[in-house]
Amino acid sequence: MSATTIAGAAYLIAALLFILSLAGLSKHETARRGVTFGIAGMAIALIATGVIAVQNAWDSPAGMLGLGILVVVMIVGAVIGLWRARVVEMTGMPELIALLHSFVGAAAVLVGWNGALDAPHLEGALKDIHHAEVFIGVFIGGVTLTGSIVAFLKLSARMSSKPLVLPGKNFLNLGALVAFVALTVWYVITPEMWLLVTVTVLALLLGWHLVASIGGGDMPVVVSMLNSYSGWAAAAAGFLLSNDLLIVTGALVGSSGAYLSYIMCKAMNRSFISVIAGGFGIEAPAKGGDEDQGEHREIDAEATAELLAGASSVVITPGYGMAVAQAQYPVAELASRLRERGVEVRFGIHPVAGRLPGHMNVLLAEAKVPYDIVLEMDEINDELAETDVVLVIGANDTVNPAAAEDPSSPIAGMPVLRAWEARNVVVFKRSMASGYAGVQNPLFFRENAQMLFGDAKERVEDILRTL
Ligand code: NDP
Repeated sequence: MSATTIAGAAYLIAALLFILSLAGLSKHETARRGVTFGIAGMAIALIATGVIAVQNAWDSPAGMLGLGILVVVMIVGAVIGLWRARVVEMTGMPELIALLHSFVGAAAVLVGWNGALDAPHLEGALKDIHHAEVFIGVFIGGVTLTGSIVAFLKLSARMSSKPLVLPGKNFLNLGALVAFVALTVWYVITPEMWLLVTVTVLALLLGWHLVASIGGGDMPVVVSMLNSYSGWAAAAAGFLLSNDLLIVTGALVGSSGAYLSYIMCKAMNRSFISVIAGGFGIEAPAKGGDEDQGEHREIDAEATAELLAGASSVVITPGYGMAVAQAQYPVAELASRLRERGVEVRFGIHPVAGRLPGHMNVLLAEAKVPYDIVLEMDEINDELAETDVVLVIGANDTVNPAAAEDPSSPIAGMPVLRAWEARNVVVFKRSMASGYAGVQNPLFFRENAQMLFGDAKERVEDILRTL
């Protein structure tokens, strides 16, 4: 049996394992198994690729050189990958994922360019198809590359999370798409290098602009959308390399990412078309939310402890700040102490609280908070008006009343936890700074709200000492 046949069979098994992995990852209980299937599939795919490389090395000196290069890059890649995965904080995961997506985009651009510079000898329709594959691969790869870099910069706060609003931005995006289609036809007819250079620059600019135009509140959808783009970029590279596994895996990632983006858009009350088209149809917000909101009131840890001691129902709405402060352990301890005193304590979790889907659930599970008191936003929202005290721990955008009440706000329409309806609200944060979307939060200035300034972990520990 030839190495190619063995590799073909291995690729099929790997593809099946990837499908099982996706199925496993769709539920909490089976997620660990899903990851194991994914690792097994990737290991089989790598071994199969190695088998082909060994066969090539056996056949020719060029193959031997290829094998040598492959071994070196695999070792370097594995070492960097292991190191990053070990040191990354959970709050840094989305930016790491965005960076990894940019590598897939870069790979697709390089594979496309390689396909153009080292074109196989083809005739007729096959030649036209090859040219179209090169062009489409470079375009999708370029958009993914710069789009992911902007997402990385925005998620790591190296770039403002506010949307870039260039004049006529929708026409710029639409114009770039029309130009891409026209250039593809041109390139298929006369494959000249300057056309490939043009589409590369066009794709890089479009990717940058598409993601830069999207506001912080929509970043979760953007990350999932870039995941989808990276899948299509891998599939395009697979066509050029005639690699079935890359095509299947790329299509799996591309379609599942697109579907996840669609589900997230529905949950966030956002238009899917608008988000994938770089905020299409969303004009510059009438105001930035920086207007004077009046005076805020402050509270200290002792007074908060007193408030909690006198409450019969408490809801805790955690957000990104709880993850930054690593406050989940004292928060879990606080919940447990209050429950011992007979206070009804529940957690209200917003679907995009933190920086990862399910971020808060993971942290609370880590701190052993019982699942049955951790409720989704839709399950708790109607009960907040009947709650004595809501503790907003490091959350901001996800409890911002402007989303529900101010149609001119940049986050208008986004479903939020209606913490402001409670009898008392205590907000744990370090300053009056806005949240990730860069929008001021009117909740902080409401009569029933008080600010407890400082690091969330330290303040919760202060409360525990007083209680
Ligand atoms: P936000 O990012 O809106 O706000 C977090 C707040 O935590 C900040 O206002 C900050 O205020 C406070 N904070 C930071 N560090 C500490 C600390 N050590 N102690 C106390 N407070 C602290 O958080 P939310 O969770 O409410 O919202 C998530 C946002 O992130 C949404 O806009 C969402 O769209 C976006 N996003 C979500 C993703 C996801 O998949 N979940 C992915 C990408 C983006 P201060 O600096 O004053 O302390």
